[in-house]
Amino acid sequence: MLHTVPKSGTAASLPADAPYTILQGSLASGVLLLCDHADNSFPPGYDSLGVAPAQLQRHIAYDPGAAGITRLMSRMLGAPAVMTRYSRLLIDPNRGEDDPTLIMKISDGAIVPGNAGISQAEREKRLDSFYRPYHRAVDALIDAMIEAGKPPVIFSVHSFTENWRGWMRPWHAGVLWDRDPRLAIPLLNGLRGDPSLVVGDNEPYAGALRGDCMYQHGTMRGLANALIEVRQDLIRDEAGQAEWAEKLSAILSRILANSRADATFHAIRYYGSRSDRAPGAAPAAGEHGMDNAQIDPRTQTELEAAAFRRLVAHLQGRPDAQNIDLMNLAGFCRNCLANWYQEAALEKGIELSKDAAREMVYGMPYEEWKALSQPEATPAQLGRFEAVAGGKNH
Ligand SMILES: [Zn+2]
Repeated sequence: MLHTVPKSGTAASLPADAPYTILQGSLASGVLLLCDHADNSFPPGYDSLGVAPAQLQRHIAYDPGAAGITRLMSRMLGAPAVMTRYSRLLIDPNRGEDDPTLIMKISDGAIVPGNAGISQAEREKRLDSFYRPYHRAVDALIDAMIEAGKPPVIFSVHSFTENWRGWMRPWHAGVLWDRDPRLAIPLLNGLRGDPSLVVGDNEPYAGALRGDCMYQHGTMRGLANALIEVRQDLIRDEAGQAEWAEKLSAILSRILANSRADATFHAIRYYGSRSDRAPGAAPAAGEHGMDNAQIDPRTQTELEAAAFRRLVAHLQGRPDAQNIDLMNLAGFCRNCLANWYQEAALEKGIELSKDAAREMVYGMPYEEWKALSQPEATPAQLGRFEAVAGGKNH
């Protein structure tokens, strides 16, 4: 597979019954595109699971526009892509094998007759015939790209319905992500660079679902990843798909052109998942609404920790906000955060080295960050720093 000289964006030849399509691209491109909900068709013998043709055109069967964007991005970035061939109603590759919504019996009001009372044997058959081969293909491509010398970032293309149960969703696009901030934060910043866009951060869905596609291939493999959701009314036609493919390709190219790309984006690093919590532990944010009065101390600590992690991730994604500028403006910087962390550990009797605390804040050894992201301070910055902090060493 894929050992011929690829012509980006064209389909690789695969066995006729393969439940996925591979778009060829360079294994050294550093980007692997995924499209989990590319198509609304069904394999022979499934008779559309008894779902009416009009329903098959809706978001319940696939993500309209997502395949078009994926094809164009594959060509623009020279990146390989894996796309599903069949409807998510058959089996949803973006769910864990034990997820109750893996095979939907009812989706957004529409009943799926062919899934009602599905037998264990049929469920296993769909896992074996459609679900697992897709994930094996994704894994094989990742292996090949790592072997070629560049662990890829995983970029998953989805679309969401603009109208959810009568409510018009305001976002033009949303970035879904879990705990790995490497790609998601600069992607959010890139999209927000266009003031005409309303950009969702883990909207309209939360990006931490145990066992989903990014969990399997991004989180578990330590690969930088992000999932984009584009609103469907913007990409129903080819012009809209081209516009979004260009927008996203430009932002991704810019992110990956960063001088620290190999150390950051093409490095294998494990961040874990917000969905990895012990049974019986406090629910993750967003699982159900609570007002302040109902928040127990443990949950409050978790919320505070989540906000802290976001702050740290945000600072990692914004190397342009230099420590010295933070000091001059607000009297603290990344190193202060690391010191506070170290001091909090000490209060608990935990010996934590300065270097370890800093690595937690920077997401890499401090010396590496400095080399990559911290240019010499200008005389003006230094002068202001003298005045504000009295030259205190940070
Ligand atoms: Zn989707």
